Amino acid sequence: MNNNVYPWQRNLLRQLISARAQLPNALLLQGKDGIGKHRFASVLSQALLCDAPMASGEPCGQCTSCGWFMAGGHPDFRLLAPEAQDESTEPAGAAADQGKPADKKASKYIIVAQVRELADFVNLTTHRNGPRIILIHPAEAMNAQAANALLKTLEEPPAGTLFILVSHQPQRLLPTVRSRCRKVNAPSPDRKEAMLWLHEQGLADAGSFLAQSGYAPLAALQLSDADHQAKRSQVFAQLAAPRAMDPLALAEQGEKLGLAWMLQWLQQWVYDLASLGLTGQARYQAEPSPETVRLAKTVSLIELFKFQHELSAAQRTLQHPLNPRLVLEQLLLSYWQTANRQESAHV
Ligand SMILES: [Zn+2]
Repeated sequence: MNNNVYPWQRNLLRQLISARAQLPNALLLQGKDGIGKHRFASVLSQALLCDAPMASGEPCGQCTSCGWFMAGGHPDFRLLAPEAQDESTEPAGAAADQGKPADKKASKYIIVAQVRELADFVNLTTHRNGPRIILIHPAEAMNAQAANALLKTLEEPPAGTLFILVSHQPQRLLPTVRSRCRKVNAPSPDRKEAMLWLHEQGLADAGSFLAQSGYAPLAALQLSDADHQAKRSQVFAQLAAPRAMDPLALAEQGEKLGLAWMLQWLQQWVYDLASLGLTGQARYQAEPSPETVRLAKTVSLIELFKFQHELSAAQRTLQHPLNPRLVLEQLLLSYWQTANRQESAHV
């Protein structure tokens, strides 16, 4: 349990705590994955319940209320999360549909029974005369039934109740739920701030991981795992040498690595090829290999953009179980054709 927010979140916390008397009944904290939204929402909840929050907006960590909160048993606080909350190293949106043998009983959704259990909670008087807080994370994990049940409560919120919805895919929420919430954009650190924080976490050479994560430092920390890096480099090395690459063998390998990771890597790869071709700069690779730079010079941008569309379409179906091997085979064959059809062939 951590009473502090990340450095890039301090201003927002101070603002929200100083405006605590004017907070609406529902906040939607939205922002990309890997920037610490969950920690922020948790510290905000604790601070709103705290008897004497500090000038920084952070909870005191000393009072009875903080004691309860830190022990995970504050009577005026509820956390709604999927039973099978996946804190592992899956990229955003990967959910649990990687064909792994998951626990069948644990749902990856927030289900209606969980929302209904709130009814008693929100209708009781609070234990400490303070607010009553319900943290929903990640809010997009609510299935349709759960979201509809929540909507009823959001329409007539009991006094003193605050819902904090946390989401990195707010577009997946019911529009009617979204419209009942005041949107709060979760801050991202700038590069310097992120590098400093990663350095403090013991990651000396963080530039490359930060780039891979799309500048989301928590995600960068997870990505720094040596085994993960080795797998990514291996895939990139094959993509960089399209003449030697065997699309079907790579699809087989990719299925084992996970469809979600493969799609994310392919997207980053294609983005970098286009970007290197256009501007000479890569975004997701701190130091692109000489092979990568050479390929970027010869590959057709038009073909690359066509492939990018194909990738995005595959990404959109990631939520629904598919045959990952087939998806990868199709994509990698398509990439193989794209990368081998070089600009010079057209002239
Ligand atoms: Zn306190």
